[in-house]
Amino acid sequence: MRAIAVAVPVPGIGALTYAVPDEFPDPPAGARVLVPVGNRTLTGIVLSAAVDPRTSNLEPQTSTLDLKPLIDVLDAEAFLPEDVVDLAAWVADYYACGVGEAIATAMPPRAWVESERHAAITEAGEARLLTERGARREALEQLSGGRIVSVGSLARRAKGIQGVLAGLEADGLVTLTRPLKGNADASRTIRVAMLTAQGTEAVDEEVARLGARQQQALDLLRGAPDGLSIAALADEDIPSESISRLARLGLVTIERRRVERMPFDTASDRITRMPVIALTEEQQAAVGALVERASRRTYHAALLHGVTGSGKTEIYLRLAREVQQSGRGVLLMVPEIALTPAAAAIFRAAFGQRVAIQHSGLSDGERYDQWHRIRRGDVDVVVGTRSAVFTPLARLGLIVVDEEHDGSYKQEESPRYHGRDVAVVRARSAGALIVLGSATPSLESYHNAQNGRYELIALKRRVLDRPMADVTIVDMRAEYASEGPDVILSAPLRDALTSRLDRQEQAIVLLNRRGFATVVFCRQCGETFECPNCSVSLTVHKAAGRARCHYCNYSMAVPRACAKCLGPYLEQLGFGTERVEAEIRALFPGARVGRVDRDTIRRRGAIAGLLARFAARELDVLVGTQMIAKGHDFPRVTLVGVISADVGLGLADFRAAERTFQLLTQVAGRSGRGEIAGQAVVQTLYPNHYSIRHARQQDYTAFYEDELKFRRAMRYPPAVALINVVVKSKTRQAAMQDAEAIAVALRAPGLGTWTVLGPAPAPLGRLKGEHRAQLFVKGTHRTSMRKALLTVLEGMPEVRRRTIVDVDPMSVL
Ligand code: ADP
Ligand code: ZN
Repeated sequence: MRAIAVAVPVPGIGALTYAVPDEFPDPPAGARVLVPVGNRTLTGIVLSAAVDPRTSNLEPQTSTLDLKPLIDVLDAEAFLPEDVVDLAAWVADYYACGVGEAIATAMPPRAWVESERHAAITEAGEARLLTERGARREALEQLSGGRIVSVGSLARRAKGIQGVLAGLEADGLVTLTRPLKGNADASRTIRVAMLTAQGTEAVDEEVARLGARQQQALDLLRGAPDGLSIAALADEDIPSESISRLARLGLVTIERRRVERMPFDTASDRITRMPVIALTEEQQAAVGALVERASRRTYHAALLHGVTGSGKTEIYLRLAREVQQSGRGVLLMVPEIALTPAAAAIFRAAFGQRVAIQHSGLSDGERYDQWHRIRRGDVDVVVGTRSAVFTPLARLGLIVVDEEHDGSYKQEESPRYHGRDVAVVRARSAGALIVLGSATPSLESYHNAQNGRYELIALKRRVLDRPMADVTIVDMRAEYASEGPDVILSAPLRDALTSRLDRQEQAIVLLNRRGFATVVFCRQCGETFECPNCSVSLTVHKAAGRARCHYCNYSMAVPRACAKCLGPYLEQLGFGTERVEAEIRALFPGARVGRVDRDTIRRRGAIAGLLARFAARELDVLVGTQMIAKGHDFPRVTLVGVISADVGLGLADFRAAERTFQLLTQVAGRSGRGEIAGQAVVQTLYPNHYSIRHARQQDYTAFYEDELKFRRAMRYPPAVALINVVVKSKTRQAAMQDAEAIAVALRAPGLGTWTVLGPAPAPLGRLKGEHRAQLFVKGTHRTSMRKALLTVLEGMPEVRRRTIVDVDPMSVL
């Protein structure tokens, strides 16, 4: 018997091995199969032989005789392309998660078919029931009386039933059917009416005998050689019965046609159709070099470090065109769903219909259609977020990861993969060029460029010689001393806003914290209102009238009295975007103010609407969280205000300074992208912190050098490889004990050269009702660190289920 490795979409499970019964041809890697798992029947994906069977966490099997047989093979050809299957297997191995979880990330909606083959007895079968013997008799008995039974449930009761059923089917005693639960082909179809030859040639007398609606329908259809949908005819007041009557008369045919659900905003396509631009010298040099690298058709990685407004998009576009014309596919990755419409519109203007979008914000139907268009080969260019790294695009020639430093590329739930790093792996195995673009590269990528792993291509100037924004740092300690402790907008920021509003220019005001007030506390007893599930205080959302936890979404009505001492003297401290918006409205009653944060964009499409209004200059000031700092290109913005630049600096996270520098540089980069020079006003309590000083000078390399010194001294990435292990438990002691056991096992002498830090309570010590203890594994050899950790965890399966393993973490809270 042959054996195959199969991935099923169950968290934490590795590859499973099954036998292929003789009546099935060998299913290729990437095909879907139905397999028994415990007492369930699941769809799985066949892994290629290249996948290490040791990623299977089944007991080692001694002989294929012990293997369970698969139940059914659903695809004769690969459903997922084999290279994508291998990429997902690599992700599972590197990020220490189940291979099925990784494969699930690569699957389109509705691909996990739940149905299986069903068996039913025929009349001949009933007649022969008593003359059959053995397994054949037993099978017929199960089906006797007209019961339709799934092959899977029969297989669980009798070994080798597939062969028996196949024999019975061949003899006409049973029928085997595969009723799919309505989701095998989830394409959307519409009914379209077209004239038949008879309808086209119908003479006037014939037509005159028809009803008025039917005559009208014939008229309309004569002008539409491709036919008209029933819906379009209904819009003309022609009921579908009239069409049916015409069809019965043979004058019209009605056919079902598949339509693609297009997630594109076709209105914005027109606006972004771009004029042909003469490239700057720097852009030209970059395009020249990259086109040459692409023409080699082998793996090559380049870091495109271009200051904000240096015209990186134009470079991607020209490069993409070259690659597409050479017959290869292009994948453009962007960090945020909100950035895909703009990027897709730019690429659709250049590549027309052969562009697809992939991200989780699409409806299931849209995702389904986009995925299958790509899989069929109808697409050359895919624009998407991190999961698009698994796109089924064939013949990849180019991957662009825009804003490669962005933390959104890392998935913060299992599989905890980093879209950029997986993209590099994919480019390597596809023999493609990968371009990582950013104005503020991640320490990792710049480090790779410094040590020669990536080619560094720099754009030091903005297009059209536009100056960089002028950055003013406001020392809030001085502001508090002169204006009192409640000031939110400093005098310099107020002045700057006033002059922008007078000149009818636009401004962006950023605060990386939502809500109205961030702490509620009792003046009488000092009690603060904490989340009952998490170790954080509740944030007041005034419009909603609720105090809410930003981690678990617990909320309560804003309290009127202290829960502890019942005193009525509650004070609200701290502030978020909601308060800033209110403040700006109060100070500038005539200004049109909009706000973008997770509270205002819960509805699908709301953010696009707000950004479009801002772009159309229907708003003067846009207040928001880091969502507004990214990528957008608003030429009329000449001022960016940052309310508390140090929001992130207090966090116990080794990337705090890097994030602060990136945010400030990126947000300052939103200013002055048009003809008028831009300004940024940055309020902070730590004007001398190096991340803020270097952001003010917009000096990336100076920041990189200071930050690398810090990372080296503290032994953090990219100086070492890091794995963050978080153990969750009901009590703090239990979490600490389990984490301690892991640490002790990892410290066993002679095991390896890594170091283990901790355990310690995680900075977020309690989250969603669970206590969390944390330890770090640091070292230079990531693979052996991961292997050792997994081996230790395998020895404590119960703890394993409560343990998060985060390889190359972005955040260690
Ligand atoms: P980046 O991503 O590097 O911050 P963008 O690609 O968004 O910059 O480009 C900024 C603006 O400059 C865009 O409006 C773009 O159309 C425009 N642009 C790009 N290249 C040129 C050029 N060579 N000449 C004039 N304008 C350009
Ligand atoms: Zn909470």
